[in-house]
Amino acid sequence: MSLATRQAPFHAFTIRHSGRASRIITDVGVSAAFDPSAPPEHPAILETKALWDTGATRSVITKKTAGDLGLVSTGMTRVNHAGGTSNHQTYVVNFFLPNNVGAPGVSVSECEDIAGDFGAIVGMDIIGGGDMAITNHAGKTTMTFRVPPFEEIDFVSQANRILFAGIGRNDPCPCGKKGDDGRTIKFKKCHGG
Ligand SMILES: [Zn+2]
Repeated sequence: MSLATRQAPFHAFTIRHSGRASRIITDVGVSAAFDPSAPPEHPAILETKALWDTGATRSVITKKTAGDLGLVSTGMTRVNHAGGTSNHQTYVVNFFLPNNVGAPGVSVSECEDIAGDFGAIVGMDIIGGGDMAITNHAGKTTMTFRVPPFEEIDFVSQANRILFAGIGRNDPCPCGKKGDDGRTIKFKKCHGG
């Protein structure tokens, strides 16, 4: 297969920080929802910053973002927050994440300005549509995200792979656990299972 016809099974981007990040922030484009496969005319895309928030069930855009794009409200929704409950306009938008990662047709609610000059909050509705990892190796935060979800990331499995590298499936498990017959259990029946 030539390189030109190869396609990765997911779209991804990676954000590397020079130190420990206290928040996850990315560039984001927001537009009125449209079909990306349709002809080239499409609504204006506003470039802004997004705060990634696993505590937000739903993504949010600011009143300013909605106003700058001239979005037409699709209705109202009740939003629960620290100060109680209030009614907010809703919109359907496309999100343009770094490196051509897209989240089209996201139903968002509107909020007042977000401290720190963010135009949007990326919530679990977008995060849950892909895989996300945050690592802090050598004191430097790296955030990586892909859509669609591709495979599980599990640090326990990784630890076991490192710990038990080179052990044959039928070897006695190095943890030394014994079966009812008093013999050490095979690796494949224990930590290699
Ligand atoms: Zn074991």
